[in-house]
Amino acid sequence: MSRSIALPAPVCRLIDRLETEGFDCWIVGGCVRDSLLHKTPSDWDMTTAATPEQMCAIFSDKRLMTNGEKHGTIGVIENGQVYEITTYRVETGCSDHRHPDSVHFTSRIEEDLSRRDFTINAMAYHPQRGLLDCFGGEDDLRQRVVRCVGEPQLRFEEDALRILRALRFAAALGFLIEPQTLCAMRQKAALLQEISAERIQSELCRTLCAPSAGKVLQLAPEVWSLLLDGLSDWQTHAPSLSCLPADAVLRLCWLYGCEGRSAAPLCRKLRFSAAQIRRAESIFGCWRQLLDSRENLVFSLRKAMCRWGEAETEDTLTLLLQAQPQIPWQHELMLARQGVWKLSQLAVDGQLLMQAGCPKGPMVGQVLNRLLELCIEERLDNRRDLLLQRASELWR
Ligand code: ATP
Ligand code: MG
Repeated sequence: MSRSIALPAPVCRLIDRLETEGFDCWIVGGCVRDSLLHKTPSDWDMTTAATPEQMCAIFSDKRLMTNGEKHGTIGVIENGQVYEITTYRVETGCSDHRHPDSVHFTSRIEEDLSRRDFTINAMAYHPQRGLLDCFGGEDDLRQRVVRCVGEPQLRFEEDALRILRALRFAAALGFLIEPQTLCAMRQKAALLQEISAERIQSELCRTLCAPSAGKVLQLAPEVWSLLLDGLSDWQTHAPSLSCLPADAVLRLCWLYGCEGRSAAPLCRKLRFSAAQIRRAESIFGCWRQLLDSRENLVFSLRKAMCRWGEAETEDTLTLLLQAQPQIPWQHELMLARQGVWKLSQLAVDGQLLMQAGCPKGPMVGQVLNRLLELCIEERLDNRRDLLLQRASELWR
């Protein structure tokens, strides 16, 4: 593992500037972890002995973001990009398992590192002083394990979200979870009930979309049975996740659909957007319709596209291709698309029906829908003269 990290020029300049003013500054957390793994970090977080006030004074010539100032974070904008620098801090107490009872600044970076969640996230790096690794993070990166900094039980009691973060990092990096850490996660799973739906949603989605999601679903059953409300057999269906697109709603629909359930109630509970909840409902409805249907599959697919939407039907087929690979879903869909399946494709519209004498009002819609059904089932050709003739029989 190479210990030398190439820092972007703006990061070096920010570190230099703080140190010239007498304040130590390091890069820390995810960017150190990812750099040591030869991955491109998503952002470059820094940590410093300077307080937010001191940072504001030192960077008074720059555009700053100060909304995180209370927590010690100042965002410095360089070339349109935000670089967050946070004062070394320690947290004490955590009676609600979510928020520390008090946060205070410190001048010792080791203290700051000790409050971080996992050893792989608790390393700092300095362009001249090199790697600062007080908790064996580099070894754990090499051995590919997620391990709590300090006593796992206490760390999860302080902040139960860390239970989900451990799963997320294991899923994203393809790491194992160190046995004592895993054991504490399982024992403390119930504390997740105190974490807000939004925070659970965000970690759950990131975990489900990560490359090793399937493996991580085999760990910590106490945690998953709490997260995946109402499911009992997720371990059986988890391995297929890697064959599905990295789409959290779709992957949830898979896990729930395999047990004959809709993922929509969970999405609602975890405060997914209204559009995501509707999507989960449609995918489940479509799945049921296609599996329950006894008619010609091509007709069924047309009706599904008409009722649930084209995109939702495609999503459902992505899942059914996994569940029922013996059925040539893609071929059937291609055939379905060659015919008529929505009102706008009909060779007549409401206006035309009324001109031809159809009574205004609900009758127009009823006649159009019946015509569509006949076309979908290929009992009538989509030709204006034939449709008008059949329509007049219908409204009479
Ligand atoms: P990513 O690349 O996914 O953003 P990250 O490691 O940067 O990964 P963040 O959630 O951005 O993760 O957090 C930044 C750092 O802050 C972490 O690396 C970790 O050191 C610390 N951290 C974040 N959340 C917690 C927490 N709940 N408890 C303890 N430390 C935390
Ligand atoms: Mg980050």
